[in-house]
Amino acid sequence: MKLTVLGCSGGIGGEDSRTSSFLVDDDVLVDCGTGVGDLEFDALRRISHVFVSHSHLDHIAAIPMLVDSIGEVCHHTITVYAPPETLHILRAHVFNWLVWPDFTAIPDRRHPYLHLQPVAVGESVHLGERLFTALPVRHTVPAVAWCLDSGAAQLIYSGDTTYCAELIEAINARPALRHLIVETAFPEEMRAMAMASRHLCPGMLETMLGELTVTPEVHVSHLKPGLGARIMEQVEALRGKLRPKRLVRGQIIEF
Ligand SMILES: [Zn+2]
Ligand SMILES: [Zn+2]
Repeated sequence: MKLTVLGCSGGIGGEDSRTSSFLVDDDVLVDCGTGVGDLEFDALRRISHVFVSHSHLDHIAAIPMLVDSIGEVCHHTITVYAPPETLHILRAHVFNWLVWPDFTAIPDRRHPYLHLQPVAVGESVHLGERLFTALPVRHTVPAVAWCLDSGAAQLIYSGDTTYCAELIEAINARPALRHLIVETAFPEEMRAMAMASRHLCPGMLETMLGELTVTPEVHVSHLKPGLGARIMEQVEALRGKLRPKRLVRGQIIEF
């Protein structure tokens, strides 16, 4: 599988700040933040599947316009996979005819431009040889991490989470894990904010990585704009065998 980073910032502002969105091969998105807006129309029309970590705007911002832009022109369905609670939020607060039309009923309910497919924690979706599994995390709203398995190797993307013992257990259950994309939204001096908003800061990342029995390449994402250099200074000073690196927009990970 080939994962292209379209966006991995915790916010907007500047050339490299696009929010969480990852293109997998050419037909799948994992999260659908503002980075999706940089894709050419021909790339957008190849997308059929979107795996969403949670309902926060930085992870779903481009879904409504993606469906609108390619639905009517290409007459094809985009399937959004997420926990049932997340899909309920999308229905109630986005695709409600007020913020955006209900594309699960357009042009009609039997052949809609948007299909919402619930995936509970622990469940998997097969797309050919590729396997996508929802893993537990802890955030302020219902949320999951996604494990992408190519058959040859695995990558786990944490989405947004604070310290989560169940996620560590799920990571350690995959001894051949090759890549871990993990958020570190705030610097150490904002630990109280990280805890209140259920994100990670470098010290919490250190604790989490210290409990891993696997040795993936660790990529740090979701740094708040303006705080990235400070956060990475602190991440690079962490003790431990894993040396996390900053994930950057445009980076390609093959596994
Ligand atoms: Zn969030
Ligand atoms: Zn976020």
